[in-house]
Amino acid sequence: MEFYSHMIDGEEVASLSGATFSSFDPHTHQDWAEIALGDGSDADRAVTAARRAFDTGPWPRMGAAERGRILHRLADLIEAHADDLGMADTRDMGKPITQSRGNDVPRTAANFRFFADHARLSTSEAYPMDTGHHAYTRYGPAGVVAAIAPWNFPMMLESWKVAPALAWGNTVVLKPAEDTPVSATLIARLALEAGMPPGVFNVVHGYGPDSAGQALTENPAVDRITFTGESGTGRVIAAAGARNLTPVSLELGGKGANLVFADADLDNAVEWSIRAVFTNSGQVCLAGSRLYVQREIYDEFLARFVAAADAMVVGDPKDEATQIGPLASAEHHAKVAGYVDTITEQGGTLRTGGLGEGWTVRPTVITGMDHKARHAREEIFGPVVVVIPFSTEAEAVELANDTTYGLNAMLFTENLHRAHRVSAALRAGTVWVNCFFVRDLRAPFGGAGDSGIGREGGTFSREFFTEPKAVVMQIDEAADSR
Ligand code: NDP
Repeated sequence: MEFYSHMIDGEEVASLSGATFSSFDPHTHQDWAEIALGDGSDADRAVTAARRAFDTGPWPRMGAAERGRILHRLADLIEAHADDLGMADTRDMGKPITQSRGNDVPRTAANFRFFADHARLSTSEAYPMDTGHHAYTRYGPAGVVAAIAPWNFPMMLESWKVAPALAWGNTVVLKPAEDTPVSATLIARLALEAGMPPGVFNVVHGYGPDSAGQALTENPAVDRITFTGESGTGRVIAAAGARNLTPVSLELGGKGANLVFADADLDNAVEWSIRAVFTNSGQVCLAGSRLYVQREIYDEFLARFVAAADAMVVGDPKDEATQIGPLASAEHHAKVAGYVDTITEQGGTLRTGGLGEGWTVRPTVITGMDHKARHAREEIFGPVVVVIPFSTEAEAVELANDTTYGLNAMLFTENLHRAHRVSAALRAGTVWVNCFFVRDLRAPFGGAGDSGIGREGGTFSREFFTEPKAVVMQIDEAADSR
């Protein structure tokens, strides 16, 4: 088994305690990699390195264009290592290889390219004053960023945090999820190869609470905490940040509503609704796991949706034909299986799907369940969808908004006026109309309610990862004439 260590100050190092843990392949049920198991002392070591690199190193001082060249080189290397990186996430969490190599690797590279260019091309505001002064905004780096990531899109979500932080001149300590540690170490190696100075991009492994992740959130030398994960963990991290008054950006859970109106293009609605809930075996914060369909088309839509769900290929994630791999871990499989086993108890009917071989769950479609039932309210994070009919647009909006989450929603309609009206009425950080998962990295991304605090993307990332400063200058009109 290959060993993957922390990356601290440009060195691959074991934990101070010497402890390790295994990364487990959820398809073969075998350990496949050995990982350094960090604790608070390793996290503190990484923060000290990042602090030094920020306070005295070249990275914050070199300017966005030079940093951008290094980040583009990193993106080139990520693309060149697509096979290794894709396989790392596939082996760590069972994601089908066509998705990890074909989607997550290019999107990881794209995150680095986008934020490199965004920082380089950004303008700042000037405020001419009529008092003999002028003011402008200076977007300087915030300092040391702690980035804590989940296991469902490992490298892609890590880069969503690390790329803007680095592009704006910060230094970073990344804590990947315990179930998906390998790609983070691989990317940190590539960052060094791309020319990033030591200490700028550090990685510590371990599991929170009481471990490396928690120590990062409590360290007063950290200037920003960016976290993606469960809403419950988000609350703990927000409390830790509050103690040091460290700004926190939280991208948390969701229970996405998908509204299909009778005037929708049904082929398009079926295709996207399938992707919305079954991509990545439903282990997606944005999953459209509450599917509301207008009564006039309910039967026809359901028949087509169930047929498309049945046609999905479940199997070995390393096989190119596979669309649904195993769930990421035994613990997570047990959680999702608990929902599958209680469908009837909660008043639902299983239309198709159910538990598959190993840790797989076949695309599972439930009908007949009340909108208040657990399956329709709680984030299952598996390939499980509850389909519920509705009559009117007002009812659809009311059902969609009846949740503590507010991450995203989807709607399918060919009526332009309805599309705008409903988009405005939905309480969600992102609304997709006639599509799903399409992103423009300039647009805000984040959620309302239990889905998080703050937005990232484009200038929203700049707000979070910089310390905007107002510079006010007196203009001495007579200076040149002296
Ligand atoms: P968790 O909240 O369990 O873990 C996320 C990360 O936080 C992991 O790296 C974890 O480490 C770490 N962690 C756990 N406890 C602490 C702590 N006390 N202090 C610091 N770090 C800690 O989430 P999952 O990994 O299970 O991810 C799934 C969740 O993420 C879902 O709820 C999903 O909706 C959400 N998500 C949200 C997205 C969004 O953009 N809004 C996108 C993707 C996912 P370890 O794993 O080692 O315990």
